Amino acid sequence: MGLTYKSTRNSQETATASLAILKGLANGGGLFVPDTIPAFDKSLDELAKMDYRQVAYNVMKLMLTDFTEDELMYCINSAYDDKFDTKEIAVLNKKAGAHFLELFHGSTIAFKDMALSILPYLLTTSAKKNNVDNEIVILTATSGDTGKAALAGFADVPGTKIIVFYPKNGVSPIQEKQMVTQKGDNTFVVGITGNFDDAQTGVKKMFSDVELNEYLASKGYQFSSANSINIGRLVPQMVYYVYAYTRLIASGEIKSGEKINVVVPTGNFGNILAAYYAKEMGLPINKFICASNENKVLYDFFTTGCYNKNREFILTSSPSMDILISSNLERLIYRIAGNDAVKNSELMSALSGEGEYSITEDMKKKLMDFYGNYATEEETSATIKKVYESDNYIMDTHTAVAATVYEKYKAETGDTTPTVIASTASPYKFTRSVMNSINSEYDKQSDFELVDELCKLSGVKIPQAIEDIRTAPIRHNTVCDKENMLDEVKKFLFAK
Ligand SMILES: *Cc1c(COP(=O)(O)O)cnc(C)c1O
Repeated sequence: MGLTYKSTRNSQETATASLAILKGLANGGGLFVPDTIPAFDKSLDELAKMDYRQVAYNVMKLMLTDFTEDELMYCINSAYDDKFDTKEIAVLNKKAGAHFLELFHGSTIAFKDMALSILPYLLTTSAKKNNVDNEIVILTATSGDTGKAALAGFADVPGTKIIVFYPKNGVSPIQEKQMVTQKGDNTFVVGITGNFDDAQTGVKKMFSDVELNEYLASKGYQFSSANSINIGRLVPQMVYYVYAYTRLIASGEIKSGEKINVVVPTGNFGNILAAYYAKEMGLPINKFICASNENKVLYDFFTTGCYNKNREFILTSSPSMDILISSNLERLIYRIAGNDAVKNSELMSALSGEGEYSITEDMKKKLMDFYGNYATEEETSATIKKVYESDNYIMDTHTAVAATVYEKYKAETGDTTPTVIASTASPYKFTRSVMNSINSEYDKQSDFELVDELCKLSGVKIPQAIEDIRTAPIRHNTVCDKENMLDEVKKFLFAK
C-alpha cells in the first residue's frame, strides 16, 4: 500500500507522492502532507554503513512510495554527484562544542542545493509517471537562496520553465549577482519592490487562481513550485539528518539509539520540519531548537502559542530568514491539531484575515520537543567573531544565528546532549556581513576583495560558485511592483 498525501485544508483532497510533487500546492491553498510517516526498515547501524546516496534511497523510498527503485535511484544518482565539492555531500565539522552539519557543498553554496539538485529529477519523473505533457512552469518566491538553487537545478531542463521573484532590496549582493547572471533560455528572474512575504503571497495567489490555471492549461502549461511548500523539497531534506546521525554513530561520537539535539536556523520552517519528520521515522532526536533572527515570530509562537505576523519586517544580515509567514509551520499545526484539516483551515484563515491565530493548550502540549529563541544582529556578529577566534572556523550569518541560540539554550537548560547545528550557507555567500563581524574595517573593501580576504583568513578554498560570478554578465534586470507579478509571468510565457 502506497503512502497517501492529503491537503492540510481539505481531507478529501488526496494525492500520490508523485502527484503531490507535480502540483506543489493543493487546491485551495493547502499543503500536501503524508497521512502517516513510515518507520525505518533498516537499523540505524545498518544506515551508518551506507553512503549518502544509499541513505537517501532508504529514507526517500519510504516517503515516495509510488516511485520505482529505478526511478528513485536515477533521481538520486543524478542529483548527488560531482556538483557537490565533496564526496560526502554533507560534512560534519566538530567545532565550538557542537557538530556543524555543513549543507552548503552544492553548486550554489546554500543548503537549498540539498533538495533543489534533486527536485528537477523528481518533478520530471513525476510528470512522466502521470502522463503529463504540459510544460511545467516553476513559480518561485525566494528570500535569496532558493532562487539560485532552483535556477541552477532547472536551467535548460527540457519541458520546464522557471520564474523566480526575489525582494529587490532584501538579498545579499552576492545572492543577487548569483541570480541575475543565471544562464538558460527557460529562466526568468524578477526583483520585486516588496519583501519576501509579498513575493510568497503573490506566488501563492497565482497558484490558486483558477482562471489563470485554466488559461495556462489551454496553452500547454502548468505551474509547480520549487519552494519548500512542495513536499518534493522536504523529503530530500529528511535525508541529511539521518545521514548526520549515522555519521556520529560511525565516528563513535554517539551510540546507536542515543538522542541528539538539532539546531536549525529557521525561516519558512521547511528545514526544521524535515528534522521533525525524520524523528517520526525513528531518528532519536531530543530537542528541535528553532533559531530565529530579529524577525522572531516563531520564537514568540513557541513561547506564547500565539502566531502573530502583525509586526515590523526587519531586514537583517541573515536575509534568507527574513520571513514573517513561515509557510511550513502549517504542516506542524495540522499535525498537532490531530491531522484535522477543518481546525487547521480555521487557523490559517485567521492568519490571512487578522494576521494572527492562537493554538489550544492541548496543541501546545504537543510542542514540548521544540525550543525557540532568537539572536539579535549584535549577538550574531559576536558569535562569528568569537568562534573564528576560538576555533579558527568562520561561519555564515544564518549559521551564526543558530549557534547563538544554541548557546542560549545551553545556558538556560544545562542540557549536554550531543548537538547538530544545521549550517545552511557558505560564509562566501554573505561575505560582507561575515567579514564586518570579524573587523568593521573590512567594510571599506569591495565585495570581491572581501572574498579574497575571507579566503586568507579561513584557509577555505573559494567556491566555484563565487568564481563563476566574478565576471559573469547580468542577464536579468526586470524589476516590478509587488502588485504586478502576474503581468511579468504573462509577459515571459506569452509575449513573443
Ligand atoms: C532558506 C534558508 C534558511 C531557512 O530555511 P527554512 O527551511 O526556510 O526554515 C536558513 N538559512 C539559509 C542560508 C537559507 O538559505
